[in-house]
Amino acid sequence: MNILSTFQYHAPKTKAEVLDLLSDIGGKSKMLAGGTDLIIMLKEKMIETENIINIADVKELSGIKFTDEGVEIGACTKIADIENSKELTNGYNALVYAAGQLGSYQVRTMATIGGNISHCSPCGETPIPLAALNATAIIESKKGERTEKVENFIIGNRVNILEEDEILTKLVIPKPASNSATVFGNIGLRNAMEIDAVNMAVTMELEDDKKTIKNVKLVMGAVAPRPIVSEAVPALIVGKELNDELIEEVGKAAMGEAKPISDVRASAEYRRDVVGALARRLTKEAYNLAMEA
Ligand SMILES: Cc1cc2nc3c(=O)[nH]c(=O)nc-3n(C[C@H](O)[C@H](O)[C@H](O)COP(=O)(O)OP(=O)(O)OC[C@H]3O[C@@H](n4cnc5c(N)ncnc54)[C@H](O)[C@@H]3O)c2cc1C
Repeated sequence: MNILSTFQYHAPKTKAEVLDLLSDIGGKSKMLAGGTDLIIMLKEKMIETENIINIADVKELSGIKFTDEGVEIGACTKIADIENSKELTNGYNALVYAAGQLGSYQVRTMATIGGNISHCSPCGETPIPLAALNATAIIESKKGERTEKVENFIIGNRVNILEEDEILTKLVIPKPASNSATVFGNIGLRNAMEIDAVNMAVTMELEDDKKTIKNVKLVMGAVAPRPIVSEAVPALIVGKELNDELIEEVGKAAMGEAKPISDVRASAEYRRDVVGALARRLTKEAYNLAMEA
């Protein structure tokens, strides 16, 4: 039986209390949100800590708020609340769909979006659509606030940019551009609750003619320690109309940028092939949806 080591338990009720605690004991503590990653790591003795700061009951850190600029999602918002948000399907459907792909419904009612981003698993479900949607991570400490693009918040397998006294407080996603669409796709080896072998999101923005590509952002997950934002795909298709030949080229370009490894979930070779297939399918889907947007 895996038994947790001894630690001090803190249950702040306000963000100010969390920031005070982090300023005092940040280096000797771990934050607990839904606990679906953290508790496993503690039980398996993969990590140890002297203090647990439970942030789950801090109301200021939860909730989905629409603004004139887009939407703000509190770090402690449950994955199930994102999956079930009808309002988010208007423009942010790729995130809603990805949320519904994370684990089981039981897991999703515990797990938070902030935990998913902060844990920095290379196959995490929400960082990839968030990056494609140009989301920004809002980071706070007693010293103030700073912001970072989601793709740069994650710097490696289970490594993020947070300092010891900092917390991720929310994600801010801008309003989607007109004539644009974002789609997410994921592949696992089994048709069951399964961590992704590869996932990907594509945002496509068209010119007013609704044919010429103005911008494209293709983001890949689980094919490197951190999300890969394609540079080759925009270089290939921006300024052009999509056709079958270009779609083939997009697949090859994405495969060339992926840096997959072989592990228990899939071989590097299989992952690279899936990258090509997802890149072709999602680019086409995003283009077609953007034409109708
Ligand atoms: C059975 C099962 C299936 C799963 N399937 C999937 C899956 O398919 N896809 C997937 O992506 N994940 C999956 N997970 C992993 C997990 O559920 C998610 O990563 C989840 O979103 C983590 O959120 P949490 O609130 O539980 O984080 P926690 O476990 O509470 O925290 C995770 C880490 O993030 C830190 N943290 C949490 N919140 C913050 C914050 N606001 N600021 C700074 N640091 C913070 C914690 O200190 C900890 O280091 C699965 C887990 C289980 C148990």
